[in-house]
Amino acid sequence: MAVSVLVAGGAGYIGSHMVKLLLRHGHLVTVLDNLSTGHRDAVQGADFVEGDLRRVTDAAQAFDGRQFDVVMHFAASCYVGESVKDPAKYYTNNVIGTLNLLEAMRAAQVKHLVFSSTCSTYGDPVFLPMSEDHPQHPVNPYGMTKLTAERAMADYGRAYGLGTVALRYFNAAGCDPEGELGERHDPETHLIPLILREALRMRAGGNPADTQLQVFGDDFDTPDGSCIRDYVHIADLCAAHLLAMERLMGDEVAGFKAFNLGIGKGFSVKEVIETCRRVTGQDIRYRVAGRRAGDPARLVASAERARAELGWSPQFNELSDIVETAWRWFSRQPALANG
Ligand code: UDP
Repeated sequence: MAVSVLVAGGAGYIGSHMVKLLLRHGHLVTVLDNLSTGHRDAVQGADFVEGDLRRVTDAAQAFDGRQFDVVMHFAASCYVGESVKDPAKYYTNNVIGTLNLLEAMRAAQVKHLVFSSTCSTYGDPVFLPMSEDHPQHPVNPYGMTKLTAERAMADYGRAYGLGTVALRYFNAAGCDPEGELGERHDPETHLIPLILREALRMRAGGNPADTQLQVFGDDFDTPDGSCIRDYVHIADLCAAHLLAMERLMGDEVAGFKAFNLGIGKGFSVKEVIETCRRVTGQDIRYRVAGRRAGDPARLVASAERARAELGWSPQFNELSDIVETAWRWFSRQPALANG
């Protein structure tokens, strides 16, 4: 059965991959995006509404004359460091934007929401791997705004009969395995794209000694001193959204439900760089810099609940496979090479 889906933030990195997957499954897709960080050309084959969730009227406008079964919400700011420097941006985009979307859904009587959440809602790990019942004490405004949005969803769910699913991603990574869609943040702050931009610079004949790649801290309590993260492929993240949507449509979720998405294995920053060296064949060097504020030493997911209850089974379980998909796209973007 074709489902009618509103994808807020569908022109962004994860949203655009989601739109492609939904269309491939024969669903009807409308994208609402303000193009602040997304790209219009990343949305192919879906209805497009340019609008900003921070404005009540824009949020409502997407629902005008359209009937949606489900909303997927990816429209948010997502940089930990920036959220510390500019919390106003995060509270406005991530909290007010979500509230406006929930209100527009309520007015249009749309009952199902899949929300793009994050392991940053947990804060520093108390136990590993982290399951959904890990305490939620965010240590930066990004995590706090996502947690606040989750709480609003739970309260709306209870009071107004919405079914809401929060998918708490660990480190989203990789690109469209078909090489059509990629990761174009400006500025880029994420590890794998930054390493691959350095690989592009090397491929173009750059001097290894001029590397701009930094490892933020090598004095953490980990085997090689650099931070450990759980990298999960965006194709697997998108597959989880599809499964969550099916559960919601089958009325199997009442109120609020959260699921972690990670592969349950951690890789250090240095291991990620080494993997990128192997995959790209480039001599990627780095400099060790100070720790980045708000970075816990290790974040590794337990995604047992998603496996058991959503039937989620990630296809990309090797870091090298994840990096290969990213390199397939980056290797065709010479303009993204570090300058
Ligand atoms: N990192 C790094 N150098 C960079 C960017 C990131 O060492 O230029 C580290 C960062 O400190 C973290 C890991 O790489 O330990 C993943 O960071 P990213 O920004 O990709 O994702 P986050 O964990 O913040 O969601």
